[in-house]
Amino acid sequence: MSQRVKIWKPSHGVGWIKYEMSIAGDDIQFTDNFWLHEFVVSKDHPELAEEIIVEPEHIARLDLMSRILLQPARDYVVSTISILSGIRSWALNEAVDGSEDSDHLCGLAADITTGYPASTELIFDYLRKRKLDLIGQLILYRNDKGQAVFVHVSFPSRRHHGEVLYADTG
Ligand SMILES: [Zn+2]
Repeated sequence: MSQRVKIWKPSHGVGWIKYEMSIAGDDIQFTDNFWLHEFVVSKDHPELAEEIIVEPEHIARLDLMSRILLQPARDYVVSTISILSGIRSWALNEAVDGSEDSDHLCGLAADITTGYPASTELIFDYLRKRKLDLIGQLILYRNDKGQAVFVHVSFPSRRHHGEVLYADTG
């Protein structure tokens, strides 16, 4: 069963615009290539991912993130983007050794990868050069060979705006 929900929202410069969300069962399609369920994941702890309670504000934030950051990045690299981590519960955040005040806890961040170093680095470069003003933290995680593994991207907050960082996955 699928339902389309029309929402009117103000948009800078063009007045009010209408956009649609598709709701199918418990899932919501944000953009052509991003769905809500993709943000409620954990490869290492699927049982904890299943227990995540998705709040309306998570949905609003990840919908916006899909529209203004992830889908444009996906269209730019022309490659499937997988979300390794989106929304985290406290239990999941602890299990993956996330920081205590992680932006993942409030649906403000996503860890993304194409699965390939070159195109993952291309996503990082695109977001850094074209979207940094819309980003809180942009972190490129690299393996011990210096290859891009995944990118953490978050929305701006009182704590972070436009920060670019590099980290090791090891
Ligand atoms: Zn992250």
